[in-house]
Amino acid sequence: MKTALVCGAGGFIGSHLVNELKRQGVWVRGVDLKFPSFSPTAADDFVIGDLREQTVCRAVVDRRFDEVYQLAADMGGAGYIFTGENDADIMHNSATINLNMLEACRCRNIKRVFYSSSACIYPAHNQEDPDKPVTREDSAYPAYPDSEYGWEKLFSERLYLAYNRNHGMECRVARYHNIFGPEGTWEGGKEKAPAALCRKVAEAQDKGEIEIWGDGAQTRSFLYIDECLKGTLRLMRSSFEGPVNIGSEEMVTINQLADMIIAISGKSLKTRHIPGPQGVRGRNSHNDLLRERLGWAPDEPLHAGLARTYGWIAAQVERTRGRNH
Ligand code: NAD
Repeated sequence: MKTALVCGAGGFIGSHLVNELKRQGVWVRGVDLKFPSFSPTAADDFVIGDLREQTVCRAVVDRRFDEVYQLAADMGGAGYIFTGENDADIMHNSATINLNMLEACRCRNIKRVFYSSSACIYPAHNQEDPDKPVTREDSAYPAYPDSEYGWEKLFSERLYLAYNRNHGMECRVARYHNIFGPEGTWEGGKEKAPAALCRKVAEAQDKGEIEIWGDGAQTRSFLYIDECLKGTLRLMRSSFEGPVNIGSEEMVTINQLADMIIAISGKSLKTRHIPGPQGVRGRNSHNDLLRERLGWAPDEPLHAGLARTYGWIAAQVERTRGRNH
């Protein structure tokens, strides 16, 4: 039976990945600081542990796994990454996890480790034009990410690829672009734009208004979780090490994203722009390399994933309201 270890299995992407691996009949161990927040884990074995500790990394890698997915990271949306207040934690925590996990895998002679990097590694100056952001994989250098989160990801990408070169490993590196979907963080400050806007719309009274950070003209693309998992598994089981973008090429402004969600809700809402962290001016996935090397790229329209996500978040908002009354 195929075996997999998922680090960060209590998180958004990790918990969905565990579900998918289980559907495929894989024996799965998950590890995280916490259990998944919204549903019981589907993992066969789940270790609560801190992957900043070398002893924990060695203990969870107590056998040879066919596949290791390293998704654990200290991360959040713009309100967490771009304020500067969490920079030291973000860099220290995530780099320590990657250094320890990779070395633990090497010691067990595990070959294939997946690493989730991010679109945040791309140079800030290539993302100032909201209509034409550049995210070709080879545009990453000369490097100038706009956040310490991006710098840590870039360092760790290089770390995984160095282990391939020097230790005969077969690590795979993906650069995720804004993944969203049900059972993701939707409140508390670490949520990202699609979840934050779904929550604001779900909480608003009909004929009311919602707040948007910045002028809303900044552009992004968003990838639904199921498509992210398809790309992840294809890359992991391919002969290509990456780094490669896994994202959507359907670019929208934050205002358009808000309008789509408002339309899905069936409410009539105004938008008000307020100052807030925004990140780069424009970002979109560039999928030529993905198509060339994996013969695949995501193609589901944004609207379809948003409708599913809005439904889930609206139900969470209702449940919270019910508890508070
Ligand atoms: P998430 O925050 O939901 O999941 C990360 C998990 O890592 C959390 O459950 C957290 O508890 C766990 N973790 C953090 N520190 C840990 C530690 N010391 N020991 C053990 N577990 C620890 O984030 P996600 O959205 O599921 O993202 C997964 C990965 O994909 C991350 O590496 C993230 O940087 C990357 N990524 C995500 C996106 C996105 O849009 N979601 C975009 C680019 C990259």
